[in-house]
Parts: sequence; C-alpha cells; structure tokens
Amino acid sequence: MLYEMKGLNEECGVFGIFGQPEAAQLAYYGLHSLQHRGQEGAGIVTSDSTMLRPHRGQGLVTEVFSAEKLATLSGHHAIGHVRYSTAGGNTLENTQPLHFKSKTGDLALAHNGNLVNADSLKHLLEAEGAIFQTTSDTEVVAHLIKRSRYESLEDRIADSLARLVGAFAFLFLTEDTLFVAVDPHGLRPLSLGRTPDGGIVFTSETCAFDIVGAEYVRDVLPGELLTVTEAGIQSRQYMEPRERAMCSMEYIYFSRPDSMIDGVNVHTARKNLGKKMFEEAPVEADVVTGVPDSSISAAIGYAEASGIPYEMGLIKNRYVGRTFIQPSQEMRERGVKMKLSALRGVVNGKRVIMVDDSIVRGTTSRRIVKLLREAGATEVHVRITAPPITNPCFYGIDTSSKDELISARMTPGEICAEIGADSLEFLTVEGMVTAIDRPFEGELRGQCAACFTGNYPTPLHEQEQDGEFLKLGERT
Ligand code: AMP
Ligand code: SF4
Repeated sequence: MLYEMKGLNEECGVFGIFGQPEAAQLAYYGLHSLQHRGQEGAGIVTSDSTMLRPHRGQGLVTEVFSAEKLATLSGHHAIGHVRYSTAGGNTLENTQPLHFKSKTGDLALAHNGNLVNADSLKHLLEAEGAIFQTTSDTEVVAHLIKRSRYESLEDRIADSLARLVGAFAFLFLTEDTLFVAVDPHGLRPLSLGRTPDGGIVFTSETCAFDIVGAEYVRDVLPGELLTVTEAGIQSRQYMEPRERAMCSMEYIYFSRPDSMIDGVNVHTARKNLGKKMFEEAPVEADVVTGVPDSSISAAIGYAEASGIPYEMGLIKNRYVGRTFIQPSQEMRERGVKMKLSALRGVVNGKRVIMVDDSIVRGTTSRRIVKLLREAGATEVHVRITAPPITNPCFYGIDTSSKDELISARMTPGEICAEIGADSLEFLTVEGMVTAIDRPFEGELRGQCAACFTGNYPTPLHEQEQDGEFLKLGERT
C-alpha cells in the first residue's frame, strides 16, 4: 500500500482558550477568523473542569456549529481546530480535535502541521498491540502518550513529543489542564495571548486575538511545552530548539494579512515581496493587478516600487471554494473560471503586470492570463512573488506531489510559454528571504524554504511502501 504522506493534517488552524466563561463561543469566533486555514472540517472540545464535551463536523465553522450546539458545550476551557485536507483524508473520524477517553481521564488533541515519521511510529505501536481508530497521525501521538513510561501526564507528553519528527503546533486539553507545544524547528506558527480578565489564548495566527478581546503576549518557542492550569503557565523545553525554520509559505500565501508571525506583519512582508520583485524583474506596463485575495498586498508593493498604478483587474467570487483542492484537472480549470473574472474596463487595451504569490501546478496562472487577454489586455507579464516550487512539502502545506509541480518539470521560460504570458519571472530565494525580513540571524534567517531549495530542515523519515521502507525523499 502506498502511504500518502500529505493527505493528512494539512494546512490546519488551532485555537485554545483557558479560564474564560463561554469558552466554546470564544473558540467559535477564534476558529472563524482562522477559517482560511481550513474549510473542510471543524471541531471544539470544552472542559468545565469535570468532563470534556466535544463536537466536530465536516464543513465551515458556521455550518458545523449552531447556536444551540454551542450552548451545549459548557466550560471555561476549550480547544478547537479547522481542517483542510486533500482528497481521501477528509472523513469525520479524522476531523479534530480528537477525543480519547480512558480510566485515568479524558484527553483531547488538536494538531496543525504534519509528522514525517507518523507511519513508522504507527508501525511500531501496532507491533506493540495498539489499535488505531483513524488514519490521522495525531492519533499516533495519543498512543505514544498512553504508552510512555513516565508518571505525570506532562512528562508523558514531553516524552512523546521528543519522538516526533516534522512540523507541529499541538494543543492538548484535559479536564483541568491545557498543554501547548511547538516542534523544535518552529515550523508552524503559534502565538500566546491574554484577555483583560486573565484568560489565556493560543492561536495559529494572531488575527484571532482581536475577535476574542485578547492581547498578543508572545510566540510559543521551538521545542517549548507550556502547561496551563488555574495556577498559571509553566514553561519547559521538552527538547532543545533546533535551527529555526518558520515556514516561508505562511508569509507568502497562507496566513491572513493582518497576522503577525514572529513580529513580522504578513501584509508588510507581502508588500516587500512585491517591491523586491520589481527590483529583481522590472517591466514596462500600464497597470499592476494582483490575484485576489492572497496577492493583493504583493501587487500593491510592486505598484508602489514601480510607480505603475495598481488597479483591480481581477474580481473574486467569494462564494466558490478554493480551486486548488478539486481532485481532477478539469474540475480545477472550471473552479478557476467560476472563481475569478477580469475587469474589461481596467485591462482593455492595457499592458498588464499580473502579480501572484505562487505557481504550483500552473492552472491558475494559465487561466488568468487567458482571462486577461479575453478582457482586452495587450500584454500580460506574470510576476510570482515566490521562487519556483520544485519540491513537495512534508510539513503540512499542500504544495502537491513532485510530479504535479510544474516548476519541477519545466524551466521558467517553458512555463511562460505554457501559460501563454509575455514574460514570467519568479523571485530568487535570497530576494524572498530579504523581503520577508525576519528578525533572526543566520543564512536563511530561521526560515524553511525547502519547497524552493530541497533543503529540508528535518530528516525525511522512512515510509512503508509495499512492505518496504523507503526514504521519503526518494518517492515522488
Ligand atoms: P496552481 O493553480 O496549481 O498553480 O496553484 C497556484 C495558486 O494556488 C496560486 O494562486 C496560490 O495563491 C494558490 N496556492 C498556493 N499554494 C497553495 C496551497 N498550499 N494551498 C492552496 N492554494 C495554494
Ligand atoms: Fe513551508 Fe515550503 Fe517549508 Fe513546507 S517546505 S514548511 S511549504 S517553506
């Protein structure tokens, strides 16, 4: 059986709140502002200090939770999750938070990221007699905790986390304690905030703080395990931090523009990516336009640096889901068409610079170049504010498998011809790192750029295929 590594725990968002009345309601608001991180499923587990109450479902946060449902989730503590999976992995059992009952107490888990050694750990655990209920790697962690030789739950969690390889931001909730942890490279973001009356909040992105009335305090550190109880917050390192590797795609594409990651505002980072793009690849044109929504900030940056006016050349229909996850190519093409329209009044007779944040399979760019030409653009120059994506991501962002990545197969010149543009330029890796300008030292200043460079910050663990273990990187 071929294990599909990237089918699980992709592109998720987590939210946790401790010590606040109506925690479920606040988690609902928090998850709503993380909805862009996953639209396929959502869940909340609350605790009133005596028992956990879960509710999970498939669909958007507003579809999964009615007011009546939320009212049944009583308690002062809650964790929640929004989930985005590719075809195959989207079943209700895999929707999080996962909830485990045992004689020693209940445990709920929410995970953002992807574990690279989940399959080999699962194999070991099954050999020891563990029975898995889901295909999610998060369940592996629950089994590790259960089987750990340590006494206290905190030690058991620390022991289990130290055995994981990959990217994770974890929230664990028991009746009276919230545990929070990030992987030793700090691949996925997780921030800590506080409400005015002392409630503690954790979120994948800082954009969720405002809506629940919390103030940002700090980011959870790589290798850190926080234990939150009525007595306060305790911090320990379950593992020494490794070389910092915050995901570059969080800045480029994934996070909301109003979020801050390690002190860098995402909108500002994108604007700087656009400015850098102009420095690296200027071109004469009449208007600059961005692909809504993720590329607007970068397009504004390009326009500002070049002096060419920014115009709204493309409109997005908000009520169509993301094209990216449609299983077949035909459906994806149709998806792009339903999702975007070009404004004839803006682009007719004009030389247009079209800024987008990334090219994965090439579907979006091809379609948009065509839309702009059909609306009368005389030239279309495509500027991608990321380097070519030549390698798959094993850390929870769906950048597709290697054979589907157009930049793994073609040169920029070939892609330019393929998408029918007059010119196509990508940002360099150095340009991308300089533009994002993270406040850290070192060569890549603490950023993961593996999908662009092939230099993965963790070992790529062995995976089982047809009874044999392969190096993950050897598989396409
Ligand atoms: P493609 O059409 O396959 O080349 O995908 C590129 C488009 O998908 C760009 O417009 C991006 O904004 C968007 N995109 C990039 N990365 C992802 C991702 N991991 N998940 C969903 N959409 C993405
Ligand atoms: Fe992010 Fe790319 Fe690294 Fe994956 S490989 S974590 S998408 S930078």
